[in-house]
Formats: sequence, structure tokens, C-alpha cells
Amino acid sequence: MKIGCHLSISKGFKAAAEAALQLGGQSFQFFTKNPRAFRGKGPQDGPEGAALCREHGLVAVAHAPYVTNLSTPDPELHEITVQSLVQDLQIAERCGAIGLVVHCGKHLDRGEEYGVARMVETLDRILAEYKGPVPILLENTAGQGSELGTDLEELLRIRERVAQKDRIRFCFDTCHAFVAGQYDPEDWERYAERMRAIGYRDLLVAVHLNDAKAPRGSRRDRHENLGKGYIGEAGLTAILRSDIFAGLPVVLETPVSAQEEYGPEMAYARKLAGIA
Ligand SMILES: [Zn+2]
Ligand SMILES: [Zn+2]
Repeated sequence: MKIGCHLSISKGFKAAAEAALQLGGQSFQFFTKNPRAFRGKGPQDGPEGAALCREHGLVAVAHAPYVTNLSTPDPELHEITVQSLVQDLQIAERCGAIGLVVHCGKHLDRGEEYGVARMVETLDRILAEYKGPVPILLENTAGQGSELGTDLEELLRIRERVAQKDRIRFCFDTCHAFVAGQYDPEDWERYAERMRAIGYRDLLVAVHLNDAKAPRGSRRDRHENLGKGYIGEAGLTAILRSDIFAGLPVVLETPVSAQEEYGPEMAYARKLAGIA
């Protein structure tokens, strides 16, 4: 595992990579642009930061803005979403990121069938326009409101319908799956086994390591600092000691008031994982 954390690129991409190294991270995640906007140029120093990452074996994971809804029924918003994500993929490529994390669609009041069909249509459009090497990493959701993609089988079914499905991979969030009631930390090995059995693990590129501020099955997406939430220290230890995430970037998106706080929290994650 390459333990890392989510960092701001407000001072540039290279500065974020430097901060990751300084905090002891082996990976980090960044927003391609303002998480609440469709527009933005992205960092101008992508290639410089990418060179630094290569030099230190640091893995960068890109994350698209939150406002993106792959299933939006609005034709104008659909077009804006396609263009925004094509641009996010280009930014991710410039920064040498291994993938672009994108949230699954929300069907709003249109129903799941419509939501999935529209999401696939949007992904097809994006992949027809962006021809570079960066894969889209669909993230499992907490299942708030009309969010699609809470369970692993559904994610695989959605991927199966995409024309260029080989360019769709996954990002697994421990908090989202927990609050969506997908696993019991006490029975983590069984869930990990299912990830392997259905072919999900082979498509997994990145992990979000978060504790949960809301109980199992609550479907409320509230991240908590490691060991302080409902997954808890024992649950996180079970997750981190299993070898299911071997070799992957495992990135913290826990609440911090300053980025420096990620240093000790990543050290804590390594301790739970038994990494010296
Ligand atoms: Zn996440
Ligand atoms: Zn979340």
C-alpha cells in the first residue's frame, strides 16, 4: 500500500507533491480544479510536479469536481459535464496522475434505469473525446438521495455497458461502502473475498481510507478521522491488515483543519497496517 492524503493545489501541483513528501506520504490526491465549479484551467505546473513524483515514486490521484452529475437529465448541463470531465482528464494526464476519480451519477427523480443509461451515455461521450491514457475511476457512493453505484456488482454492471469499458476502473471508499451498509468491519475478509471473486479487485486503482461519522447503513456521507468513527480502530486494522489493497494508493480524505495534521494520521494508518 502507498498511504497518502488529499492535498490542496492552491499553491500549485508541484507544491502539493512536495507537501505530500514532507508529510511522509507515498501517494496523494488533488482536485483538478475548484471542487464546486465546472470551469478552471487546472495547475500550470503539472509536468514539473509529475517529474518530482516520478523521481520519488510518489503516486498522484486526480479527483474531478463534486458538482459533476454523470446522470444529469438537463441537456445543457450534460454538455457542460462532458466538456468539464474531458478537461479534468487532460489536467490529470498533464500531472501524471494514475486516474481521475469521478462520482457515480444521481438519477434525481428519473429512476435507476434512466440514471444508469444516462451515466453510460455521458461516459461514452467523454471517452470518445478524450483519447489519452488516464482512466476514469468510478467511486462507490454512500447512497445518499438518488446516488447510483453503492454496491460493487452495480458498479461492474455499469462499467460493462460502457463502449470503451477498458478505460473505466474503480476507486473504493471505505466510509461510503460502510455507511451504505455494504460490509461489516468484523467480517472484512469475506467482503474482500467478494471483491476478488466478482472481478472488482482487478479493476481497483485507488482507495479512499476514511472512518465514518455516521453509523453503518445510515447512507450519510460524513467522513471521520481514522479510529474516531463507527468503523473504528479495530475495523480499520482489519481492513489495513488484509492484503486486499496491496500495491494501491490508499488516500485519506478525513477532516483536518490544516494539511499538516495528515502527517500523524498517515503514520497512524501505517501503524494500523503494520507497516514500519
Ligand atoms: Zn472518497
Ligand atoms: Zn465521501
